Amino acid sequence: MSAEYDVIVVGVGGMGSAALYQLARRGKKVLGLERFDIPHAHGSSHGISRIIRLPYYEDPAYVPLLRRAYDLWRELEAATGRKLLVTTGSIDASPEDDPLFQGALRSAREHGLSHEVLTGSAVNARFPGYDLPAGYRALFQPDGGLIASERAIVAHVEAAQRCGAAVHAREPMTEWEAGPAGVRVTTTKGTYRAQRLVFTTGAWIGEQVSSLSGKAVPERQVLAWLQPLQHERFTTATFPVFNLQVDEGRYYGLPIYDVPGFKFGRYHHLGETGPADDLASDATARDEDLLRSFAERYFPAGAGPTLALRACMFTNTPDEHFILDHHPQHRNVVLASPCSGHGYKFCSVIGEIIADLASGAGTTRLDIGFLRSRRFEHAA
Ligand SMILES: Cc1cc2nc3c(=O)[nH]c(=O)nc-3n(C[C@H](O)[C@H](O)[C@H](O)COP(=O)(O)OP(=O)(O)OC[C@H]3O[C@@H](n4cnc5c(N)ncnc54)[C@H](O)[C@@H]3O)c2cc1C
Repeated sequence: MSAEYDVIVVGVGGMGSAALYQLARRGKKVLGLERFDIPHAHGSSHGISRIIRLPYYEDPAYVPLLRRAYDLWRELEAATGRKLLVTTGSIDASPEDDPLFQGALRSAREHGLSHEVLTGSAVNARFPGYDLPAGYRALFQPDGGLIASERAIVAHVEAAQRCGAAVHAREPMTEWEAGPAGVRVTTTKGTYRAQRLVFTTGAWIGEQVSSLSGKAVPERQVLAWLQPLQHERFTTATFPVFNLQVDEGRYYGLPIYDVPGFKFGRYHHLGETGPADDLASDATARDEDLLRSFAERYFPAGAGPTLALRACMFTNTPDEHFILDHHPQHRNVVLASPCSGHGYKFCSVIGEIIADLASGAGTTRLDIGFLRSRRFEHAA
């Protein structure tokens, strides 16, 4: 097979746009194929903003990746002149013995991150948008904040195009094949050949790559924006982003940014899973009631009239850690399913890792051993 491209990246959302940029800046001839528009509101990256935080309660092994992610977000801002990362500080709060607070504390201590431990009442006094149970424990970390997620896709695509990347939107991949001599991708408009192939297709990856079937499961989520009753308590200067474990579940939230409203959501919202194209893409009164009752209890000053509701998708792995690896049968195919509800903040560094895996010897200096897909084979 004679290759037209060095690498084809299928799926130009959060991860694919970053991979395109990192490959193109290394001088690779790349093609990005996207089913919808750039950006769009049918996948996992829309809704204006995403949280970025350092004291990672999910696993301290993510912290070195996060440090690199911060550097690369700043580099992308400098390269494109776009503001992408806004620092607000982060709060990880729960009952004291809960894995959320304990995990954040462990990550902060193991990696020497500056932090403060506060009671719920101390959080409420310092950040009066919050109304946490008095005895909760919270880890405040000053570097947390938000990434302008849709703008960052545009920034990565612009930067990639400046380095020579070709990007085709509204051109879904319909078939692919790989062999030792290269890869072939068929779309609704044509057939392309390359030396290597990257899958960054988010909620659709389990339908396209049989080894990920049942290991990358789409789940419907809903985001709410409510008008604060006291606006000044929910600005990027007064309101740190949060992850919060309460009786009703695990929630996250962000200050007013770019569009009106205090924004928040519930992890695993109503537990609705299924093929991506079958998940309801609009929000309902039931979604609104669930989210509003949370805000009324823990953020009453933020629980004014509803301004917006948006459905979106997680792609969950069985252990909720990412999948970042070569295809088990084809070393020239890279699989990246970094979601499980917490992937966006890593797009910048995952783009770099994908570029490492899809060029040269296919190795990376960053430690991603805990994200390899073969961990599921051992668990079986
Ligand atoms: C409501 C919500 C809140 C979240 N909050 C946070 C947060 O605060 N912080 C955080 O770090 N993470 C958060 N996440 C997770 C984060 O948003 C995801 O990890 C990230 O967006 C995943 O990016 P992706 O590139 O894998 O998916 P996407 O951005 O959806 O990209 C996949 C792309 O592949 C394309 N595609 C699929 N099939 C084809 C095909 N056949 N041909 C061509 N293109 C195709 C799709 O159209 C899509 O554009 C949240 C997710 C949701 C849903």
